[in-house]
Amino acid sequence: MTIKILIGSLLVGFCFSSVALANNRCLRELKRNDVSFQRVDKKHIDEGVKISGEIGDVLYQSQTQQDLIIDCPLAYALSRLSPLLRSMGITKVIWSSAYDIRKIRGTKKYSRHSFGLAIDIVGVEHEGKIFRVSDHYEQGLGNKNNCIGEPLTKGGAILRSMFCQWDASGLFRIILTPDYDAGHYHHFHVEVDPNRLK
Ligand SMILES: [Zn+2]
Repeated sequence: MTIKILIGSLLVGFCFSSVALANNRCLRELKRNDVSFQRVDKKHIDEGVKISGEIGDVLYQSQTQQDLIIDCPLAYALSRLSPLLRSMGITKVIWSSAYDIRKIRGTKKYSRHSFGLAIDIVGVEHEGKIFRVSDHYEQGLGNKNNCIGEPLTKGGAILRSMFCQWDASGLFRIILTPDYDAGHYHHFHVEVDPNRLK
């Protein structure tokens, strides 16, 4: 498959309307989206969930064998995007950090990881091959009119397309890529705003 055909196929038909989600409905929505989870009580997290295995047919695998513990709204946002990932041929998302009480580097402010509202994604598996942000993400691509730009490699196209689709979904408050700063050279920091999902 050429890069252009791949990008074209990724762009077709993904339009996300605004999400209606009341706080107390989040767990129910997760169940409805076939996410298998356990509720967990963790400091700083409003409605903690532990997810072992898949979120809607996409495996979220820790690179350090940790359980995925996040706040329900982040799990819900990820579950909304699983059909998109599957249609792109992505079956696995590899993450390095999720719930982790820590400050934003150089500040005294808690990172959204502290509240289970952020996840750091380091790579994906596409048709049996792993593409890592550190190795395959091509920096400096895209502009206001064309988010994806012209990646030179298949891995670059997949990762950039994933970023653009997730960014356009409106499900996240912010997604930081290696384009943001040197500290993000090997991951996408993906952060949900629970208020946006209400
Ligand atoms: Zn992060």
